[in-house]
Amino acid sequence: MKTIETFDFKKKKALIRVDFNVPLNEHFEITDDNRIRAAIPTIKKVLSSGGSVILMSHLGRPKTGYEERFSLKHLVKHVSKLAGSPVKFADDCIGNVPSELANSLKPGEILLLENLRFHKEETKGNEEFAQELASLADVYINDAFGTAHRAHASTAIVANFFPENKMFGYLIEKELQNLDKVLEAPKKPFTAIMGGAKVSDKIPIIENLLDRVDNLIIGGGMTYTFIKAQGGSIGSSLVEEDKLDIALDLIEKARTQNVRLVLPVDNVVADKFAAEASTQETGIGQVPEGWMGLDVGRKTIEEFSAIIKESNTILWNGPMGVFEMEKFQSGTRSVALAIAEATDKGAFSLIGGGDSVAAINKYKLAERVSFVSTGGGAMLEYMEGRELPGIAAIRR
Ligand code: AMP
Repeated sequence: MKTIETFDFKKKKALIRVDFNVPLNEHFEITDDNRIRAAIPTIKKVLSSGGSVILMSHLGRPKTGYEERFSLKHLVKHVSKLAGSPVKFADDCIGNVPSELANSLKPGEILLLENLRFHKEETKGNEEFAQELASLADVYINDAFGTAHRAHASTAIVANFFPENKMFGYLIEKELQNLDKVLEAPKKPFTAIMGGAKVSDKIPIIENLLDRVDNLIIGGGMTYTFIKAQGGSIGSSLVEEDKLDIALDLIEKARTQNVRLVLPVDNVVADKFAAEASTQETGIGQVPEGWMGLDVGRKTIEEFSAIIKESNTILWNGPMGVFEMEKFQSGTRSVALAIAEATDKGAFSLIGGGDSVAAINKYKLAERVSFVSTGGGAMLEYMEGRELPGIAAIRR
């Protein structure tokens, strides 16, 4: 396999799939440029080794064709500033305009193509569309981990037209190295912490992790499906009635595989789902009628923190409670802090999934964990042990 570090980009045009799906405000200004920043090392590497760069991305979810608010032209200035070189813009990603601009592109120059999703062929994974994109360049680099689980034209199909010259960018390389560290050779004890609203989203990842972890900590809304399945009273807490059997199966599977499955022992319950709700602490299967569990309790926090601090590998996905509300954030904040403390002492910690990433940033602890995945859905699917089309297309 070719790598970005060793490839000779001299006089080569590199077509780079980046994830520039950044939030814009009503004046089309970028409100969070992390995704653009994350792609800069790959862009600079190609430019500094004598190549030119053609950037392609999606932005938002346009329905049919062009929509002003989803145009990548709004990003041109900022990309240019961060990359430290001028950026040309093609107001379409296929056809004569990009092809002429690409032809005249010189080493050291950057061309940004218009939003790929203005063409429905992108998400359909259309071959001819992918071939048109491929015709613009000599080399293909995929650096968009967040869309690697999609078999779209620009994330997977286009790679077929570069049988020799295809590779990952630095961002994806780093993601894979870190995710593989957890999946393939975790230093023991290995603790996975799963939270968030629904157990249904997390069943495949829990199943895959049961073969690997020593401890599986469960918190958040999904707790109550496990508690109800075991006969506890959960009041009006979140529950997935059709997943009660699966919850029992997972408990049994953990037992036979000698995995310590740790559920909360107490919780903070509220009389309504609101920031100003009345609250009390109860035992976990003792939620009064009309009340709902919105955070883990103090005894649980102690127990979870102790297990986390004794771990050498930690994977965290999903908050322990409704951490967006002040009254229900203790569990999530304490888990984040325990992970940071374990990492200070030498553990390897990986945080992934939208809400746990938001939480670790909220508590300003991102610098104190080993790796924060940018992946979201892609990260979850990789952790489920599934082959991601965007990854397979390069490795194949
Ligand atoms: P997910 O996207 O499945 O990871 O879920 C994240 C969401 O779960 C966050 O917005 C949390 O507020 C929510 N959440 C966590 N714990 C609970 C709970 N006990 N009850 C209801 N929602 C919860």
